[in-house]
Amino acid sequence: MLLIGSHVSFRSSDQLVGSVKEAISYGSNSFMFYTGAPQNTKRCKIDYDLTVEARNILYENNIELKNIIVHAPYIINLANNEKEENYRFAINFLKEEIRRVEMFGVEKLVLHPGSYVNLDLDTGINNVINALNEVINPNQDVKICLETMAGKGSEICFNINHIKRIIDGVKYNDKIMVCLDTCHLNDAGYNMEMFDDFLNEFDKLIGIDKIGCVHVNDSKNPIGSHKDRHENIGYGTIGFDNLINIIYNERLCNVPKILETPYVSFNDKERILPPYKFEIDMIKDKKFNDDLYEDIRNYYKRSK
Ligand code: FE
Ligand code: FE
Ligand code: ZN
Repeated sequence: MLLIGSHVSFRSSDQLVGSVKEAISYGSNSFMFYTGAPQNTKRCKIDYDLTVEARNILYENNIELKNIIVHAPYIINLANNEKEENYRFAINFLKEEIRRVEMFGVEKLVLHPGSYVNLDLDTGINNVINALNEVINPNQDVKICLETMAGKGSEICFNINHIKRIIDGVKYNDKIMVCLDTCHLNDAGYNMEMFDDFLNEFDKLIGIDKIGCVHVNDSKNPIGSHKDRHENIGYGTIGFDNLINIIYNERLCNVPKILETPYVSFNDKERILPPYKFEIDMIKDKKFNDDLYEDIRNYYKRSK
């Protein structure tokens, strides 16, 4: 079965209930959320009653908890320890985040491995290994999914060998999985037209069973650009057919596919509209919609 969804919002007022309802409105059977704002570490207390209510809605809609993903905030940087205080903060935040993820009953937490900044690649990788060895508890149910990155600035893990090195260095590495991001892979230099070759290489090095999540995004930039700017499905340099091949790849059929494509502006930024319902329709139909932007604007105009 196709497991498809998108990034959805999480508000402190209705928490997971709001996220689930948003995902259902897009026709998703999987989704990803941040436990607060993606760009900061302010987090509210998880409300037990709202979590129970959300789980009931999931159950009624045949969405399985194991197909829900949490994304850690992207300012958490485990690769740089120049400021001991920030490195400690990141480690402690991640420990707390794992507790929150467990409270929801979610099993996968996507993490950007980090950027070494003024250090060097090897030091960055070692910092991540040391941090994860401190964070991971052998009894936790949550798997940390290290995301493949574009290699923007001093980001690590734009090469799957970096991920392999982290996995090899982590003691309880049964708690580590990988999140493939198609935009990041393209920007890192992996050819998404030859995705099966990439999977073969990944399987030899790390193992396909380690893939816990796929972020399906088109890219605004050419292969190898190290930029990391996402584009709507079929509107970028990877292209619709290549993304469909990845989404429907038999070897990844049990892995949730999550869209993190850009919102669409409307009336000169008067409203910014989510594209996910329409992109998910295209994916389900396996048919490219070259009127995507018009359809999105018309739909939200009518529903206003
Ligand atoms: Fe990410
Ligand atoms: Fe991503
Ligand atoms: Zn990205």
